Amino acid sequence: MIGHELRRPHAQGAPALTLSSELTFLKGAGPQAASALRGLDLHTVGDLLFHLPLRYEDRRRLTPLAELREGSEALVRARVEVAEVRFGPRRMLLVALDQDGRGLLLRFFHFNESQRAGFTPGRLIQVFGSVRGGRNGLEMVHPEYQWVEADAAPALDAHLTPVYPLTAGMTQPRLRRLIGQALDLATRDAALNQALPGLDGLGTLDALDAIHRPGDDTDTRALLALRHPAQQRLIREELLAHQLCMRLLRLQIRERPAPVLDGLDDARQALCALLPFDLTGAQQRVLDELAVDLRGPRPMLRLMQGDVGSGKTVVAAVAMLAAARSGHQAVLMAPTELLAEQHQANLRSWLQPLGIEPVLISGRLRKRERDACAERIASGEAAIVVGTHAVFQTSLRFAHLALVVVDEQHRFGVQQRIALRDKGPSGSTPHQLVMSATPIPRTLAQTLYADLDVSVIDQLPPGRTPIATVVLGQPRRDQVIARIGAACRDGRQAYWVCTLIDENEEIEAQAAAVTAEKLREALQDLRIGLVHGRLRGEAKEAAMRDFKDGHTQLLVATTVIEVGVDVPNASIMVIDNAERLGLSQLHQLRGRVGRGSRASQCVLLYQHPLSADARARLEVRRTTTDGVRIAQADLELRGPGELLGRRQTGLIGLKIADPVRDAELIGPLQPLADHWLQHHPAESQMLIRRWVGDVERYARV
Ligand code: ADP
Ligand code: MG
Repeated sequence: MIGHELRRPHAQGAPALTLSSELTFLKGAGPQAASALRGLDLHTVGDLLFHLPLRYEDRRRLTPLAELREGSEALVRARVEVAEVRFGPRRMLLVALDQDGRGLLLRFFHFNESQRAGFTPGRLIQVFGSVRGGRNGLEMVHPEYQWVEADAAPALDAHLTPVYPLTAGMTQPRLRRLIGQALDLATRDAALNQALPGLDGLGTLDALDAIHRPGDDTDTRALLALRHPAQQRLIREELLAHQLCMRLLRLQIRERPAPVLDGLDDARQALCALLPFDLTGAQQRVLDELAVDLRGPRPMLRLMQGDVGSGKTVVAAVAMLAAARSGHQAVLMAPTELLAEQHQANLRSWLQPLGIEPVLISGRLRKRERDACAERIASGEAAIVVGTHAVFQTSLRFAHLALVVVDEQHRFGVQQRIALRDKGPSGSTPHQLVMSATPIPRTLAQTLYADLDVSVIDQLPPGRTPIATVVLGQPRRDQVIARIGAACRDGRQAYWVCTLIDENEEIEAQAAAVTAEKLREALQDLRIGLVHGRLRGEAKEAAMRDFKDGHTQLLVATTVIEVGVDVPNASIMVIDNAERLGLSQLHQLRGRVGRGSRASQCVLLYQHPLSADARARLEVRRTTTDGVRIAQADLELRGPGELLGRRQTGLIGLKIADPVRDAELIGPLQPLADHWLQHHPAESQMLIRRWVGDVERYARV
């Protein structure tokens, strides 16, 4: 994927190792490692270079227990005071450490007998992990540890240690060694050493080196804050690559003919006559914008932004109806099976009276049913189709697809949009409508989705019962639990959301599991479900479905519930350690309740004590309900970084840039992107391949 001089392997002897060689040619990368790395979308030696650290660990000094701060990471050395295995719903090993009367509690969920036996009182241990507040003071969950001799010098690192996104079957040290080999090879790569027009300063290769292997002369403070020139260089490169890619995509698509759909106003009238409500002014305005696009001879490329609950689906339904009535097909893609089902149910209730039966193509169908479905789609008999993104990545053919609607844009990167390009009948390209509830300011949306025109639904339907939000400290936790119990016994349903404590999904999932166990202990008569990111797709869907169907009354969840499932009976949400969330993330979460007619509550539980700053933030969270205003406040209060959340940035396919945090860099790159497209087409292709990937590969799926 990296530009390079192609060296063909010699017919005899070992092939010359280059950046485009398969990973398996590296020392220490057997077939098993290669398959683990494939899980991270790493295939060639060159791919490793752009697998960038999520963050750094600082193991350069020991922190005394007295100086430990919650939320930080630290290397500590202390004596084992006591260790015991606690049985109960979940077996765990608890180890209390002591240092001059200061304590730290370690929790282990996975351990064997010999590990347990090693924790004898008085023994000296060195531990690295992130510090969090527990009921009885500070603790670490599953820290790394090693035993040390009393008089041994501390084993400290000379440099910051990069921490990479990982997958099962690969470890940090092993990945670091492989990346080191790739960097050594990269010094001979022509493209990486090439200067790029308009991007001065540090070169690509030096930047990569500083980021992967920080040295003595590296400004570590800048590196930790993502402010290092090396990081800034790569951020600008990546943003430029994405601008280039989106522009090219738009140019290519807008060159093609699209089906002319002029029936939107008729469809609007037909549907409105049947709806139990009137469309809001904002919905009407967006429909006017769609009508103009769909009448045109070129494919529509439009983003429809609107807060959770603003009624995007019905707007999309009008456009889909217009396509169906003119003898074309329309498809709606959702990020999960459950959301697809929900959309289909809504569409059916609206469209059936008009003689249209939307077809759900689900991963849950048996092969025979699925084939029958696919057949109806291929023949054109199915005019309106609903399914998940995954379903459409398989080879599904349409007879005359004219409109593609994509729900929940923030899960959907430029790569996926490329894949949509070629789904239409030969000779014409479908219109695209992307729906997003991510409340980002309009100007930002325009740069983030440079290939899309933007419409905004900036008004909620009337008569919504506002969500009452209260902010409570953890000492009130038991009271909150009791209130939740009473509400559930009264027929209501509630979410209990556990916020991120780590990028590590495993640890986060464990924390949620522990919370669920504690709640089950405290509320034994309640049916309590659990959903987190470590569950397999089906298990996750099943947990959500049980909750939606009312089989479970309380759902303990990590932030995976953030995206769009509608459970109207759920009217209470507790957010544990709410101080950890960005405002927008919180807003999205809170949008899960307040969907029914019942007055809803949201309880923000926070960790004592709060800084004045954190208090101000929570106050905004309590009082603000407008998504876009929240996004603005978020930018102002937290600084740009947290708006979309790191995970979402990953989901839209960025490796190092964060379109919100780095917003001010985007503006100046736009003229540069235009300049490159005109004068440096080869470099443009090279940069897109480097950062976005093999665009043609996405186009083929
Ligand atoms: P979102 O924009 O979050 O996807 P939905 O499309 O799911 O929102 O709409 C939320 C709910 O509001 C749905 O039950 C929908 O039927 C209803 N709704 C949509 N538009 C209106 C309106 N103009 N008046 C009243 N209810 C509406
Ligand atoms: Mg929705």
